[in-house]
Amino acid sequence: MEFIDLRSDTVTHPTPAMREAMAKAQVGDDVYGEDPTVNRLQEMAATMMGQEAGLFVASGTMGNLVAILAHCGRGDEAILGDQAHTFLYEAGGISALGGVHSCQLPNQPDGSLAIDDIEAAIRPDDAHHPVTRLIALENTHNRCGGTYQTVEYKRAVSDFAHENSLVVHLDGARIFNAAVAQGIAAKELAAPVDSVTFCLSKGLCAPVGSLLCGSKEFIAKAHRIRKQLGGGMRQAGILAAAGIVALETMIERLAEDHARAKKLAEGLKQVKGLVVDAGSPATNMVFPSLAEDVSLSAEQVEEKMNAFGVRVRAISQRRFRLVTHYWIDDAGVERTVAVFRHVLH
Ligand SMILES: *Cc1c(COP(=O)(O)O)cnc(C)c1O
Repeated sequence: MEFIDLRSDTVTHPTPAMREAMAKAQVGDDVYGEDPTVNRLQEMAATMMGQEAGLFVASGTMGNLVAILAHCGRGDEAILGDQAHTFLYEAGGISALGGVHSCQLPNQPDGSLAIDDIEAAIRPDDAHHPVTRLIALENTHNRCGGTYQTVEYKRAVSDFAHENSLVVHLDGARIFNAAVAQGIAAKELAAPVDSVTFCLSKGLCAPVGSLLCGSKEFIAKAHRIRKQLGGGMRQAGILAAAGIVALETMIERLAEDHARAKKLAEGLKQVKGLVVDAGSPATNMVFPSLAEDVSLSAEQVEEKMNAFGVRVRAISQRRFRLVTHYWIDDAGVERTVAVFRHVLH
C-alpha cells in the first residue's frame, strides 16, 4: 500500500495468497446453493462460532440487518447500546427496512450493557408498549475504543435473555480481535448467543464479506431475508476463497496488530501535544487527543499528516482514531510517531 493508512482496518488490501486463492476458486451458483467454496466458508464459520450454520453476506451491516430482521417482526423492540455500530452507523436500517423499534442503553466503558439496565428496559405486557424481543451486543466495541467483553459476560447476558424469552445477537465484526486479546477461541464468545456476525474484510484482510451464524432454523430464515435485500450473489466463491484464507491464516497474527497498537500508543505518549487514553489500547485501536495548548484542530493535523503520506482519522475536533493492521509494520509505527511529532512541534 502506498500510504501508511491507519484510518481503519477496512482499508486492508487482500494478501497475495488471497489473490491466488481467488483466481483458482471453484465456483457455482450460490443462489442455488451450488458454490462449493461458499459452502465450505459457511461451514468453517459455523464451526468457529460454535453455531450450527453460517451465511455469507456482503457486509457486516447486511449481517446485522438480516439477523435483526430474522429475529424481530415489525413493532418489536431491540435493546442495544447508545454507542452501538448498529444504532449509529447502519443508516437506521433496522427501523427503515424492518420496522424494528430500538431502545438504546448506555454502553459501559468496556462496551457492555449492564444487566440491571437491560432488566429495567424490558417492556411489560401492555398494549401501549412495543414487544421487547432482542438484545444486541458488540465485541470488540468500536466506539468504546476497541474494548472487549469476556466469556462470563456473554454467558450472563445470554442466560438472562433466555430466562426472559429474549434472544441475543452479537455484532462480532472484530470478534477475533476480542478472542486473540483474551487468548481464547472465538467460539467461546459466540456459542452462548443466538446469532453472531463477523467481518472478513477488516483486520483479516479479505476484500469483501461477512458471515452470519446461528441455528439451522435461524439461518434458513436469514437466507430468505438476504434474498429479499438483494444479497443473493452468484459465483461468490471468488470472494469466499479469500475468506477461507483469512480464517486459516490471518487470525493468530492479530496479536501482532495489538502489539503494534501498544507500541504506537507508547510512542504517541512521548509526543508533546498529544494525550493518549489511560489503559488503551485494548486491541488494535489507539485514540490520541490533542493537548489543550495545541492550536491546530484534529482535522488540520490530519491534513498536514496526509502530506507526509500518513493517514489518520480525526473523529472529533480534538480526537483521532488510529487502527493497526496487517499492512502496518514496525517502521510504519515509528514513522507515524515521527510525523505527529513533526506536525505538532
Ligand atoms: C465495521 C463494523 C460493522 C460492519 O461494517 P460494514 O462496513 O458494513 O462491513 C459492524 N459493526 C461494527 C462494530 C463494525 O466495526
